[in-house]
Amino acid sequence: MARLQALRINSRELLREPGLQKHVDFTVSASDLGVDDERIVGDVSIDLTATSGVDSVVVHGTVRMPWKAQCRRCLTDLDGTASIEVDEVYQTAAEMGPDDDAFPIESDQIDLVPAVREHLLLELPDDVLCREACAGICPVCGVDLNTGSCDCDTSVRDERWAALDDLRLDD
Ligand SMILES: [Zn+2]
Ligand SMILES: [Zn+2]
Repeated sequence: MARLQALRINSRELLREPGLQKHVDFTVSASDLGVDDERIVGDVSIDLTATSGVDSVVVHGTVRMPWKAQCRRCLTDLDGTASIEVDEVYQTAAEMGPDDDAFPIESDQIDLVPAVREHLLLELPDDVLCREACAGICPVCGVDLNTGSCDCDTSVRDERWAALDDLRLDD
């Protein structure tokens, strides 16, 4: 995709000498990056600096992802912008050992797309709470217990646990 060319850095220029830098400041939609997820609600901002070492390139910076999700207890709509720190190493295939978790430099090219994609997927809001002490909703009547209350008897439990209670009483 031509639009993603800004996220591909020529490593030959960068590896001419250690300490050379290339800065990438780019905004792109998540779907252009190959991440289609309704929790990402706007463009992703990529602000990364590639710095050459002797035979590797370190990519460091921040990726910002606007997101929305629901509190898993009370289902309130939540949104925010995740600020994701990126710190990755790129190495040529020749320098790469079997245990290295570096990204490959292929055809003299540092492709930032797979690294950015990986970080986005890891940071997708999962299991979020509106606040740590969210009281959730009543499982019986559905009232939001953060803002209201009800008289439901929520002590009714699964019958399967009753046998365990009997065992404990015998002790
Ligand atoms: Zn909540
Ligand atoms: Zn209730």
